[in-house]
Order: sequence, then structure tokens, then C-alpha cells
Amino acid sequence: MPRLLIVGPQGSGKGTQGVRVADALAIPIVSTGDVFRANVKDGTELGLKVKAIIDAGDLVPDELTSAIVRDRLEQVDAAGGFLLDGYPRNVGQVGDLDGFLSGRGEQLTGVLELSVPRAVSIERLSLRASEQGRADDTEEAIAKRLSLYESETAPILDVYRERGIVDAIDGVGSLDEIAQRISAALAARGIPG
Ligand code: ADP
Repeated sequence: MPRLLIVGPQGSGKGTQGVRVADALAIPIVSTGDVFRANVKDGTELGLKVKAIIDAGDLVPDELTSAIVRDRLEQVDAAGGFLLDGYPRNVGQVGDLDGFLSGRGEQLTGVLELSVPRAVSIERLSLRASEQGRADDTEEAIAKRLSLYESETAPILDVYRERGIVDAIDGVGSLDEIAQRISAALAARGIPG
């Protein structure tokens, strides 16, 4: 059963590729960024709580984020596998996820690390800023998120590398080329079975 995580810096295209992987494997994609944005848009209690944090490019507290992911993973459609996007985002969240999964006798089966040079990342982000107008795509919030990626998120890859479950994917190329690299990496792990 594929229990996957896709990781990459802002602008790496992990959102786009994540949707493709999840569709191809018929598993739900669990994107914490999407959950937070939907709640902000709908003006829910959670949305009101996290809006300022997200707009500034800061991280939502681990306890809150981990509780949301746990609830989502307990839903029946995630029983046959899932693809996480944007969570875990720091080593503390890795511990939270490990605790939750091991309680069910499970663990992550694969981590896709999408890498792109900083310059490409920034170029794609400024394009997205002009196209989508995301509130956290201001220059300041982008810089904050990229630096948090380096300091908080990149270290989670060391943890997963030690477990031998990370595949590094070159994120430069056409959407189809990158999707192809991802399916080759998954196939080498016997996914789909
Ligand atoms: P990006 O990868 O472009 O920063 P995301 O959609 O993954 O965008 O996340 C948007 C924002 O949502 C983050 O900047 C952060 O404020 C919040 N967020 C998303 N995932 C997490 C997480 N796992 N932990 C804490 N905050 C998160």
C-alpha cells in the first residue's frame, strides 16, 4: 500500500506532480497547505486562527497541524494509501507522524524529493504570484518560506534517507518528463504493486 510523501522547496512543482501521482495510484492527496487555505477561504474557526501565520509565511503550530493530518488519515478513503504534501515539514512533525502510523502498525513507504535550483524555484514562484495572487506569495513571505524550507524541512530528508526510503527526483524539465521520473522511481520500489 503506497504511503507516500512528496517534498520539495516552494516552486519545485510538488503540488502539480503530487496530484498526478495521487491520481495515477488512486490514492488521496493530503495537502496541509490546501486544507489551511480552504479553511481561510471559508472563514472557519481554524481558518481565522491560521490566516495571519500563513500570510506571513510562518509555520502553523505542530500540534494543530498534526491533529488535522491525523483526522484526515483516519478517514476511510486513506485506508488504501495516501500521498502527503507539505507534511511533515519539520523533524517534530516527523515524530508526530511516526507515532500515529506506528500505532497502526504502519510506516511511510516512500519519500519523493523534488529538487530544483533556487533560481528556478524563485522564477516559478514569481510567475505563480502574478497568476494566482496567493496572499503568501509576497516577496517577504516567499523569502521566509524558502528559508524555513532550508532550516526546518530539509533536515527531515536526512531522517528519511537513513531509512532508505527517499528517491531524489530532478524537478527541472517538462511536466511529463518529471512525472515519468517519478513513476520510474516508484516502480523501482514496486509501486504500484
Ligand atoms: P508552500 O510549499 O508554497 O509554502 P504550502 O501550500 O505547502 O505552500 O503551505 C502554505 C502555508 O501553510 C505554509 O507557509 C504554512 O504557513 C502552512 N503550512 C502548510 N503545511 C504546514 C505544516 N506541515 N506545518 C506547519 N505549517 C504548514
